[in-house]
Amino acid sequence: MDKHFDKERFKETVRDNVRNLFRKTLKEATQQQLFQAVAYAVKDVIIDNWMATQQVMDEEDPKILYYMSMEFLMGRALGNNLINLTAYKEVKEALSEMGFDLNVIEDQEPDAALGNGGLGRLAACFLDSLATLGYPAYGCGIRYRYGMFRQKIENGYQVEVPDDWLRNGNPFELKRPEYAKIVRFGGYVRVEYDEQTHSNRFIQENYQSVRAVPYDIPVVGYNNNMVNTLRVWDAEAINDFQLDSFDKGDYQKAVEQENLARNIVEVLYPNDNHYAGKELRLKQQYFFISASVQEAVAKYKRKHNDIHKFYEKATFQMNDTHPTVAVAELMRILLDEEGLGWDEAWEITTKTVAYTNHTIMAEALEKWPIELFSRLLPRIYQIVEEINRRFIAQVQQRYPGNQDKIAKMAVIYDGQVRMANLAIVAGYSVNGVAKLHTEILKKQTLKDFYEMMPEKFNNKTNGITQRRFLLHGNQLLADWVTDHIGDEWITDLPQIAKMKLYADDQKARQEFMNIKYQNKVRLAKYIKEHNGIDVDPRSVFDVQVKRLHEYKRQLMNILDVMYLYRELKEHPERPFYPVTFIFGAKAAAGYRRAKLTIKLINSVADVINNDQSINGKIKVVFIEDYRVSNAELIFAAADISEQISTASKEASGTSNMKLMLNGALTLGTMDGANVEIVQEVGEENAFIFGLSSQEVIDHENNHDYDPTYYFNNDPDIRTTLMELINGKYSGGDMELFRELYDSLLTTKEGPADQYFILADFKSYDAARKKAIEYYQSQGDWAKSAILNMASSGKFSSDRTIQEYVRDIWKLEPIKITVDPESFE
Ligand SMILES: *Cc1c(COP(=O)(O)O)cnc(C)c1O
Repeated sequence: MDKHFDKERFKETVRDNVRNLFRKTLKEATQQQLFQAVAYAVKDVIIDNWMATQQVMDEEDPKILYYMSMEFLMGRALGNNLINLTAYKEVKEALSEMGFDLNVIEDQEPDAALGNGGLGRLAACFLDSLATLGYPAYGCGIRYRYGMFRQKIENGYQVEVPDDWLRNGNPFELKRPEYAKIVRFGGYVRVEYDEQTHSNRFIQENYQSVRAVPYDIPVVGYNNNMVNTLRVWDAEAINDFQLDSFDKGDYQKAVEQENLARNIVEVLYPNDNHYAGKELRLKQQYFFISASVQEAVAKYKRKHNDIHKFYEKATFQMNDTHPTVAVAELMRILLDEEGLGWDEAWEITTKTVAYTNHTIMAEALEKWPIELFSRLLPRIYQIVEEINRRFIAQVQQRYPGNQDKIAKMAVIYDGQVRMANLAIVAGYSVNGVAKLHTEILKKQTLKDFYEMMPEKFNNKTNGITQRRFLLHGNQLLADWVTDHIGDEWITDLPQIAKMKLYADDQKARQEFMNIKYQNKVRLAKYIKEHNGIDVDPRSVFDVQVKRLHEYKRQLMNILDVMYLYRELKEHPERPFYPVTFIFGAKAAAGYRRAKLTIKLINSVADVINNDQSINGKIKVVFIEDYRVSNAELIFAAADISEQISTASKEASGTSNMKLMLNGALTLGTMDGANVEIVQEVGEENAFIFGLSSQEVIDHENNHDYDPTYYFNNDPDIRTTLMELINGKYSGGDMELFRELYDSLLTTKEGPADQYFILADFKSYDAARKKAIEYYQSQGDWAKSAILNMASSGKFSSDRTIQEYVRDIWKLEPIKITVDPESFE
């Protein structure tokens, strides 16, 4: 866009937009109105490329990826769109000439928080890479009326506030009523024998229905004129009741349909890595999947007559098990609407759908009670039953008389529909999200499936987009890198390895540390404004930002902070380098222990930050409402990246990659993608500690882990744990944190310290002290930090997407050439 960017015309458009949208002059407009005016001006430009992309797709008829996901954690669009249009600096300059600050305008935009954490952010990074690499793709999701809740901290506790992100409208979205679809729930299935075809017809009757209406959000590729589409579905009531319904006595049903439409897209479930089993959640799943699959088939049929070759033009990637009803919905359409036989329909379906597994944790596995599933989706249930019947026959043929195999692999078993098993049985590909995770899937969690169908299994290590998390989030570092090695890294991250040359260069080290310092000043300012806490940008910034979950072990982190603080108080004579411990995390609204951990972090922060005697050597900061937009600031400013999950539990992690890209050093366990990060950067440039995944798994299988051993034999651990129940951090209340204490030593529900905090505590503490010590050799630290950044090439989502394309989707890139006239 830079070639065609007409600054004067852009200013004119902003002025016109303020007039037309708000009947105001530039002087009178609020910052929010300015944001809207600028966003619409940018959308103008995007629309041309969007139409050009559609035109090329129309002409070339390429195979299309449908990336199906309950979550897209997109964050803000304006700055990212400008970055990808390569117009960021020009627009910043134009606005500055008008007396406005682009950063302030960007801050007016609410995050599109249509996701919880890593899984949803992965989907967003994938869309960025797909568009940048020129692959035709639709993101398919839900237009939640309320996204991830906003987190307020009151008296140290998390309070959830509804996220009314559409309050001022969304300037980038486009409603597409012409593609609306009807989705049906409930009722029963009537079977009718068709004399002509000599086959049964299945007719759903007495159902409730909603109209699914798509909104398209542009996904701008980097500097290539490509614009893909994130299509999110809204629900509208079907208002054909009126007099007609009164006459038929259908008033009750009409009201129910209204309620269904109102409720279905109302809110994102705030659970990360946890299955809650709510009926409305299954409705959400079928709602957006039915609409998306209907549209994918309709789009194919607009161009093609032979439905048997559907899979040559479409492929569905299911992001976790949440979209797995797509298997049965595609079968339903092929059987009931296209009139195919079972074998033909199954062949098409199993060549179309692929599944990504995101976790091995049992509590995250979706298993729907048959009663609920069959009542809500009666026809879909019949189809799943038939899939199960045929699959069990296959298992019996392969393992005659082996009930154990059926118990493990059946799709329907013990009164439940098991979505992961359905996804594996039907998918042509099953992938894990990091090498270690995929190995655990093959050797343990999904061993029986792997033995029966090894060809389906493959690994796709996650990645992140360097466009958002370096080019946009850390402009100082991005410019510095570009000054040294050129800008190819923006679309080819492995090029950043050229920066390794500068790891030994004194001047470069100094420049790197200066940039980090300026980013720390920027974050310190944010913390001062939001938390009222003064933090010293010269201190080590030790950062753990991610969803609050026991397996991620924020509790271990804060316990170690308590231990360090006690040591500092007891040994004032020892040297102690200042550290700022930064946390950011939302807890699921119903996750009591996680919410209590937030309270503990804030209580510890209160005590330590107000202790004048330690001269500010330790500060603890809990950043409220952690989300993509403030994440960008935090990553840029981090020195230490806390990746301390219990080994085997974090399938990949992606904040580990974002932090590495920004030159932070990993303090972590050998879990998820940490293993590959260390492989790339070398163990000497990271701080690794703790049990291995095999050790954890062995303890779990042998039931031989005893946390009380550590409590009884290690006075440091014992004293630290006692501080949870002696009132030190709770104004004398001995009960406030007792649940956390109990969770580590004795529980009613099951084994204590399920996440091996006490086993890893001392090695964690030692590794962290080593990191803080190392920071004091600024030259060495700078070298390791530069090497981390320079070794992050593998972790671009561009690489991940190329691997999906090569091994799974088999897409061809398209090229968009836009008539430059369209910019004038
Ligand atoms: C990257 C990201 C995550 C995922 O973090 P993990 O540490 O990998 O769990 C979660 N939330 C936001 C806002 C992110 O940007």
